[in-house]
Amino acid sequence: MTTIDAPAPDRLPTDVPTRLFIGGRWIAGSDGATMPVEDPATGQVLCHVADASPADGVAALDAARAAGPAWAAAPARERSRVLRRAHDLVVSRTEELALVMTREMGKPLAEARGEVAYAAGFLEWFAEEAVRIGGEYGRTPNGAARTVVTRRPVGTCLLVTPWNFPLAMAARKIAPALAAGCTVVLKPAPQTPLSSLLLAEILAEAGLPAGAVNVVPTSRAGEVVAPLLRSGHVRKLSFTGSTAVGRLLLAQASDAVVRTSMELGGNAPFLVFDDADLDVAVDGAVQAKMRNMGEACVAANRFFVHRSVATEFAERLGARMGSLVVGPGTSPTTQVGPLIDAGSRAKVAGLVDDAVARGAEVVCGAAIPSGSGYFYPPTVLAGVAPDSALVSEEIFGPVAAIQVFDTDDDVVALANATVWGLAGYVFTRDLDRALSVAEALDVGMVGLNGGAVSNPAAPFGGVKQSGFGREGGRQGIEEYLDVKMIMIPVRDRDRR
Ligand code: NAP
Repeated sequence: MTTIDAPAPDRLPTDVPTRLFIGGRWIAGSDGATMPVEDPATGQVLCHVADASPADGVAALDAARAAGPAWAAAPARERSRVLRRAHDLVVSRTEELALVMTREMGKPLAEARGEVAYAAGFLEWFAEEAVRIGGEYGRTPNGAARTVVTRRPVGTCLLVTPWNFPLAMAARKIAPALAAGCTVVLKPAPQTPLSSLLLAEILAEAGLPAGAVNVVPTSRAGEVVAPLLRSGHVRKLSFTGSTAVGRLLLAQASDAVVRTSMELGGNAPFLVFDDADLDVAVDGAVQAKMRNMGEACVAANRFFVHRSVATEFAERLGARMGSLVVGPGTSPTTQVGPLIDAGSRAKVAGLVDDAVARGAEVVCGAAIPSGSGYFYPPTVLAGVAPDSALVSEEIFGPVAAIQVFDTDDDVVALANATVWGLAGYVFTRDLDRALSVAEALDVGMVGLNGGAVSNPAAPFGGVKQSGFGREGGRQGIEEYLDVKMIMIPVRDRDRR
């Protein structure tokens, strides 16, 4: 590991909005509260943002409800144009958005630029989907009635997002909601509110009517969100975050029978068979493990490598991960930034210590560097015991934990032995094996001979306790549309 200790720039790159965005206006919280935003590379406070109270949450919901009918009635082409303009503005402001994201979240600038492009991709994709909301016309099988099936916006949406992809998670929800004709209240994670506030500013500049998007950062998530869910005025909750919080919000949403989409945690298996191209597998492993410092729901969490190639794979992965440059995300040479906060780093370190105590061999990493910031080194562990905590828990850090397997049936059973089912990765050159294993994995997404599964044009989501619903792809807009059917009896003279 190479650690660089370049000082981070001491100011934000622009006049980043720091107030609540409600009804098209930037306002201070009703009780005047503010909360700090920290730079995880230094532990220093970057700025303070308004901290929404429960009353602000209600005001945001009222604003979204008031804007709802006009936005739903706007021609799809008009909604599409706003999204398209927002896409263009996001792209044109890439450097500024990337720097803000890096400062509040920690990821290296190159990754932040990638996330800006990914977020813009959702605005573009759903600008295109907005004008393709279709319907069906048909007859019942007995010929007695005609049916018209149409789709309409579900209504006011509440969107709750995590800190790890602060711009993309917001765009991945806001874009399909607006495309469908819904208006929204977004509650971003308190660690990373700035990217969402900038997105709101851009949407307003793109011509979005006041109230169609409202953003309420808060340190009081439970107090703000629960009353909204129970108000009877939220028709849809889209949540991305941990399974534990998702479970809680599902319970709250059940009171008013709110429609939900849940993008929850993962515990992705990464399978390397004896016939895999190891160059490709190691590249895929670095990508699937190290994206966002391992703080990704689709991060490879459990590596299963065939016994015959396990030693070589561990050595090669260790050499690659061990040579990555760790440092502040703002430094142009940094490849691995800090973790989000001290608690996250302590959790990752505890999981590694537990695995080592149970017999894992440290191939590289595992030693926390001295100095400020929440850095943790890229770490490869070989010979991980199956009862190690990091096998059953989401690591959410730059740690590759390798176990060995002997047969295809064994590894599929091991891969599926988890409550989660978000992503899985399979590396083999045998087409039959590739397809049969990809089909057998209990996950929503499979990366076949590659370490990426995310694209705005592809449906993203999980099964089991990784949640339900899909974001992106043709499916993404359906999450924000209700189906309505109109039945018309067929008169006798028309029955032919
Ligand atoms: P988290 O603790 O579940 O928080 C996610 C969001 O929920 C934050 O905005 C959080 O705000 C809010 N929240 C927490 N308690 C709440 C409550 N009682 N009522 C309303 N909102 C509440 O997750 P995280 O640590 O930010 O993110 C990491 C998790 O997200 C991981 O498990 C990861 O796998 C998952 N994730 C999943 C996907 C996916 O697409 N499947 C994508 C990215 C991340 P506060 O922090 O203020 O509580």
